[in-house]
Amino acid sequence: MSISKNLQLVQHRIANSAQAAGRDPASITLLAVSKTFDVQAVLAAAQAGQRAFGENYVQEAIDKIAATRDMREHNPDLQLEWHFIGPIQSNKTRQIAEHFDWVHSVDRLKIAQRLSEQRPADMPPLQICLQVNVSGEATKSGLEPEALLEIARAVVLLPNIRLRGLMAIPEPTEDVQQQRAAFAKLRFMQNDLQAVGIQTDTLSMGMSADMDAAIAEGATIVRIGTAIFGVRDYAK
Ligand SMILES: *Cc1c(COP(=O)(O)O)cnc(C)c1O
Repeated sequence: MSISKNLQLVQHRIANSAQAAGRDPASITLLAVSKTFDVQAVLAAAQAGQRAFGENYVQEAIDKIAATRDMREHNPDLQLEWHFIGPIQSNKTRQIAEHFDWVHSVDRLKIAQRLSEQRPADMPPLQICLQVNVSGEATKSGLEPEALLEIARAVVLLPNIRLRGLMAIPEPTEDVQQQRAAFAKLRFMQNDLQAVGIQTDTLSMGMSADMDAAIAEGATIVRIGTAIFGVRDYAK
């Protein structure tokens, strides 16, 4: 199936899940995760109206960002928004700070500090989410829930980044109740932040296999790859 058709189907799914949860579909942003797919795939999605793209690998992403930026001369509509969603190594923070609009995967204060220091002065603040481990032992990515408040308090003081919210990648499960429980945890953590005066508006949660549960629990950004672009081939 074509990328534009897939996008339509995903948008319908978002609308249906939102409606079922009594939410406005417009309160949910679709992030198209284009990792491992080439710039042609990004352009096909962009032509179908998609604007926000998520990437996991810095160099691969920068190549696509540069290619689409060059094309913007001829096509002013090609104003795309780039979100970094992969694990962050400290030696990659400068490139991330210089090229992306958002970073969803900040899991250490040191990374947030470097992103703030390295964000170019002529760019708007980098929009970030703190990635939290909501599945305990099962996964290693994300900061521990107990560490969240302290890190969030420090992050909101950094000048060149803006804390927008929280992100999670729960352990995969087909059990919808379990999916919802993990996403609900992230929502409760956002409430905890609010209780100490840290306002955020973003819950980045839900992928192709669990987006409906995520929307039911309040996702404001769903990160969708496979359902839009097809199955990834990491061998390429
Ligand atoms: C790859 C990836 C996605 C997309 O996953 P799909 O199952 O293909 O929709 C979403 N979020 C993160 C952090 C990813 O690495």
